[in-house]
Amino acid sequence: MNPGTEHWMVVNERPDVRMVRGHGSYLEDAAGRRYLDFIQGWAVNCLGHAPTAVRDAIAAQASTVINVGPAFHNEPALRLASGLARLSGLGKVFLANSGAEANEGAVKLARRWGQKHRRGAFEVITTIDGFHGRTLAMTSATGKAGWAEAFPPGIDGFPKVPYGDVGAVERAIGERTVAVMVEPMQGEAGVVMPPDGYLRELRTLCDRHGILLMCDEVQTGMSRTGPLFAHGHEGVLPDVMTLGKGLGGGLPIAALLARDEVSCFEFGDHGSTFGGNALTSAAGLAVLETITSASFESRRADSSRRLLQELSRIAESHGALLRGRGHLFGMVFDTGIAEAVRRRAFEHGLLLNAPRPHVLRFMPALDVGDDEIESMGRVLARSIDECRQGT
Ligand SMILES: *Cc1c(COP(=O)(O)O)cnc(C)c1O
Repeated sequence: MNPGTEHWMVVNERPDVRMVRGHGSYLEDAAGRRYLDFIQGWAVNCLGHAPTAVRDAIAAQASTVINVGPAFHNEPALRLASGLARLSGLGKVFLANSGAEANEGAVKLARRWGQKHRRGAFEVITTIDGFHGRTLAMTSATGKAGWAEAFPPGIDGFPKVPYGDVGAVERAIGERTVAVMVEPMQGEAGVVMPPDGYLRELRTLCDRHGILLMCDEVQTGMSRTGPLFAHGHEGVLPDVMTLGKGLGGGLPIAALLARDEVSCFEFGDHGSTFGGNALTSAAGLAVLETITSASFESRRADSSRRLLQELSRIAESHGALLRGRGHLFGMVFDTGIAEAVRRRAFEHGLLLNAPRPHVLRFMPALDVGDDEIESMGRVLARSIDECRQGT
């Protein structure tokens, strides 16, 4: 057993290995075994393990200044905020440390906006099976079965509607509604794509009712699905957006962005001790500069095409369906074998995630190479075959 596990507060299952180093798409454990990583820290390491850009940026920043605290500005945070604002079209940026924290900020902002502009409206419509994080309020905002009742009393004000159903959102809008909060693609639900035009129709609906459209892009942002932000697929601009996961290339940083007119916090309304610290901001800036460079963009597009091709081929030959885009895919089986396939793949040195009993999820580095995609395909096909044959 790993030394120290007796003191580890157990909140999830972990295999009895200890990861000691990583490079690109590979992780290595204490026994020297190598794993091909298609989880990448949960869609976090968008540039793979130990990417030069992030490593250099944080090493340089660490030897300059790590943390000046929230009482003062620092250069990497201001540069990151400016870059995100320019690229998103959302003029105001608050830097936080996790996706859940950014979403908490988004809901607080919506409620403040509701007090000022919509007679105290506070309800944020969210979706069934949507995921927004694990803080107390986000547990209530999240639409996973059983979560609303898990830590009673829950937080009021998050009516749920089926994902992808604009009519259901419209029927749920009332006097107390201040915003609609959706993922452009549901990640934790097993990579669920909405019908074409979903965000566009939500945008129109929100405008008609004078409420806010908030996109939780914690998983889909930072080019995970292709464009820098997934709402770019539909050419709409939300009023509020949250980012996390890929933003720091492995470091904990998240962001809350809002249109200038919506950014209505007053002094004392919001804050964060570590939010916008120089070290993680330097990482975020390095990630942003890397993934928006023309050379990375063309590598990412090639990699995504190759990944789609390989996963489609395997899905087709193994009686599964593929959904997703960019570097975020779900392979959907007709039976609940995803967890068994995941375990088998792990034994063969491939790291995958099974967010649902019948769904495998793929979230590799955005520049995962052809060889790595081919290796993944071989191990995946073999793992599915072994599970289907019960060997
Ligand atoms: C992962 C995730 C979160 C939560 O992010 P944390 O950093 O774990 O708090 C929120 N929303 C979405 C869509 C996510 O995928």
